[in-house]
Parts: sequence; C-alpha cells; structure tokens
Amino acid sequence: MSRVYNFSAGPAVLPEAVLKEAQEEMLDYRGCGMSVMEMSHRSKVFDDIIQKAEADLRRLMGIPENYKVLFLQGGASLQFAMIPMNLMKNRVADYIVTGQWAKKAWQEGAKYGTANKIASSEDKTFSYIPDCSDLPISENADYVYICENNTIYGTKFKKLPNTKGKLLVSDVSSCFLSEPVNVSDYGIIYGGVQKNIGPAGMVIAIVRDDLITDDVLPFTPTMMKYKTHADAGSLYNTPNCYCIYMCGKVFEWIESMGGLEGMKKHNEEKAAILYDFLDSSNLFKGTVVKEDRSLMNVPFVTGDQEMDAKFVKEATAAGFVNLKGHRTVGGMRASIYNAMPKEGVVKLVEFMKAFEDENLK
Ligand SMILES: *Cc1c(COP(=O)(O)O)cnc(C)c1O
Repeated sequence: MSRVYNFSAGPAVLPEAVLKEAQEEMLDYRGCGMSVMEMSHRSKVFDDIIQKAEADLRRLMGIPENYKVLFLQGGASLQFAMIPMNLMKNRVADYIVTGQWAKKAWQEGAKYGTANKIASSEDKTFSYIPDCSDLPISENADYVYICENNTIYGTKFKKLPNTKGKLLVSDVSSCFLSEPVNVSDYGIIYGGVQKNIGPAGMVIAIVRDDLITDDVLPFTPTMMKYKTHADAGSLYNTPNCYCIYMCGKVFEWIESMGGLEGMKKHNEEKAAILYDFLDSSNLFKGTVVKEDRSLMNVPFVTGDQEMDAKFVKEATAAGFVNLKGHRTVGGMRASIYNAMPKEGVVKLVEFMKAFEDENLK
C-alpha cells in the first residue's frame, strides 16, 4: 500500500486513522454482524451512530440549543435552492459574490425572488474579499448570503459582513470545522462535507429553529423543507447512513486533536509554511491578497503556463497529487484541509524549492 499526499479540493483527504477504523469495522460493526452500509437507518445501532455524531458536532462547534443540526442530501448545491425556498418570505435577498460558488447561489436565488448582488470581487478575478462593513443592505432582505471560504480562489472572510441586523446565511463547505466559529452569528451555517469532514454526498445544515417553519414558498417540495427533516431528526427518508457514520468518526478525530482550537493551530502552522515559502520564492507566487488568504485552499502560479504544467506533472510523479488549479483559474492549488498532515506541506515545500532551483537557472 502506498498513499500519496492528496491536495484535492474535494472530495478530499481524510484522516488515515479514521479510514483504518472504518476498515476494521467494515464487515462487522462492533459485533452486530454487518457493515454500517447494510443496516436499517431505523435500527438501534444506527440511531446510536447518528445521535452520537450530532452530539459530538454540537460539542465541537458549541452549537446552541436553539439550532437544529440537519444531515441532508443533494450536496451544498441543493442548499442554493433550499435556502431561498425556506427563507424568502419577502422574496428579497442580498448576495455577496466572492467566487463561483457564491455566484451559483446568487443565480439560483434569483429564480425565487429578487437576488441583489450587493458586493462582488469579480473585477479582480475574485482575488480579494470586498469591504463589507457598510453595504447597501436591502431594507426588506430576508437574508444576506456569503460563501465564507472560496474554495476555487483561496480567499476567506476574516470578519463577517455587517448585515445591519439581517439574517446571515453562510456556505462554509471548504472551511467547516477548520477553526472555532460563533454559530449564533448565523441564521444558517452549512456545508457539503466532502471538503473537510467526510465522503461526498451529504451536507450539514445548522439552522436556527425559528427559521424552520411551514411558511415556505408555496411550491417547495416536501424534501426541500427544513421542517420535514428537522421534525424527523434527519430520518424523514433514508439518509446517507455511511456518510453520517464517517463524519461521526471525523468528529471524534477532531476532538482527539484538541477540538476546533487545536485544528486552527494545526491549520495556521501548515498554511504559514506554504505562504512563507510562496512569499520568498522567485518562481512561485500566491494569487490572492495577503490579508484575505484562506487557510484551506492555496492557489499559486509561476506566471508561465508551460512551467505550471511541468510542475504539476513532476509533483504528481513524486506523490503530490491533485495540485492542478481549477479549470477557471489555471495554475496550481494546494488544498490543505484538516486531514492533511503538516508533514505533507513540509514535503511539498521541499519539493517546490528543489523544482525552483532546478528550473530558475
Ligand atoms: C464544493 C463546494 C460547493 C459544492 O458542493 P456540492 O456538494 O458538490 O454541491 C459549494 N460551495 C463551496 C464553497 C464548495 O467548496
């Protein structure tokens, strides 16, 4: 067996300890004689799994009592529609467009009402976070929407926007559980789990309970009402059982690593190693404004497409995989999520240094 250093933006690296535990439990989950993949979602064994996963997530994030935790399918992308369907009472929402994911959410929101783009960083290829201290928030906005960590461009909101009292909805897919958050700052905080938590195919939505009502847009499908899932404890229909089980294991792993404070320290250390190198390199350079840099997704370029391609090719051969940048930006991107060990980043930087020496003669 030989494992690579996987810098994929998602689905992405998982903690090796978690994969090994899942392997050990694959054929016989704790003496019940079957795999978690094979058991009823209504069984006592699975009920224990989902209850413990939720309790552990609540403890990790300090989720207040008045928020529901929902394990939903359809990925983060389905939330782009579920959010307006459930929240657009006035049919008005404000969107801050800082990348492709926020843009998609904004475009989807516009199908259900007036979706105002109140700020954007598209003028400079989304390489920064706009000043959000005094935006023209609409008087009757049902919510203000952000994508907190921009997976493709590598920027992150270091400070939440001033929503002037309006509800904040945030997509945290690519920074979920990477550092402490104050859940009470949000109406909804949600993310697809395949970036930083588990396998693909699920989204976790943490929703303030006064937002979970029958007062949704009239055509909202039953499956797209938060209330349907909240009333049934995420078991209205068959959920992604195996994914819930894997996420639960990752929550335990994060706890063992010192919780979200521990994760933040670990992530800051890793990111500093890579950014310090990029700032001192004569070949590679980061593509985003320093103060808005993400701890999770680090895009960089050489400025020469052929050199970029050569780097990606040689890195792959050396066991540093999935470093090619998103098709819309080019260059490279190293996603260094929670589960990427510090050693992976140290070795990547050593490899980049050697490549630079070799190619900058
Ligand atoms: C990956 C990603 C999405 C899309 O997730 P899906 O689960 O594939 O729908 C949405 N938002 C952000 C920030 C992402 O990184």
